[in-house]
Amino acid sequence: MSTPELPVIAGNEQLRADLQLMRRQNHLPHALLLHGERGCGKKTLAKWFSMLVLCEDAEHAPCGGCKNCRLVSENAHPDVMTAEHSGKRMGFSVETVRAVRREAGILPNNGDMRIFLFTDADGMSIQAQNALLKSVEEPPAHACFVFTVETIGTLLPTLLSRMTAKAVFPVSESECVTALTRLSYSAEEIQSAVSRFGGNIGKCIGYLSDEMQRQAAETAAGLTAALAQVNEYELLRLLTAAAADKDLLRRTLELFDMQIRDAAVHSLEGEFRLMGCDRSASEALAGRLSPRRAMRMHGAIAEAFADLESNVGAALTVTALCAALCEA
Ligand SMILES: [Zn+2]
Repeated sequence: MSTPELPVIAGNEQLRADLQLMRRQNHLPHALLLHGERGCGKKTLAKWFSMLVLCEDAEHAPCGGCKNCRLVSENAHPDVMTAEHSGKRMGFSVETVRAVRREAGILPNNGDMRIFLFTDADGMSIQAQNALLKSVEEPPAHACFVFTVETIGTLLPTLLSRMTAKAVFPVSESECVTALTRLSYSAEEIQSAVSRFGGNIGKCIGYLSDEMQRQAAETAAGLTAALAQVNEYELLRLLTAAAADKDLLRRTLELFDMQIRDAAVHSLEGEFRLMGCDRSASEALAGRLSPRRAMRMHGAIAEAFADLESNVGAALTVTALCAALCEA
């Protein structure tokens, strides 16, 4: 039998200590909101929190070894439900919310609590939030709701006011290296990922495990360097290569947009928290970037996204984008 383990979590010690204290004092929140940038570990922490709530060892929760912890670890606990995403914005349908409300009224199978996870809830519609409001306002004693979002502003203030909100942060590079080592990546792989994404473990894992994500990061870094050197030819060459696959192009543009954001923050404030995938390329671009120019570039990328949405061909989209970036 394999030894069950706690999820690999690095950093965010204060957050975890706060929640553990709440558990020992029998004061766990009935609605927890974990917010922070993509890849910073919100879903892993939501899983850890589910263990904390359901663990049979109140004093040392989550222990990782009891039956409840094991079942959560294997994503097989009957009292932990993850709401299913649907629709273009990957929100939750009103039907899904109603189903969760019905489930919330049912007593737990294994223990004292039932947990309902709404992960990546940024796309949750107003209707779905309203449908959920009553359950979160007056939850049954055995129900606990956990939400993860990138930005808190996407939730209705009425819903937000009923939640205990906790910010989740990327960790230091050395903590990230330790966590990735525990996940059995080689030193060389880890170095390549951390040099791109710093202490964002989720983004590092995406880069190491998903070939397309890796390609998108390399291209976005190349685009930033090309833009810094005003190398229009290279810009168009890289964009055209990415345009061979619309999904690759979208991911590349998303990271490239973050690179421009990083460069803009760097030119304004010096220090910046890496959101893109190449710190030095962003720094090189920063010297050529006024805030107004950065906004125009961001606008040009947004326009390219809109074109792709409305089924303009990828080749045409990148040609227009290249021209707009050079004129910006
Ligand atoms: Zn346990």
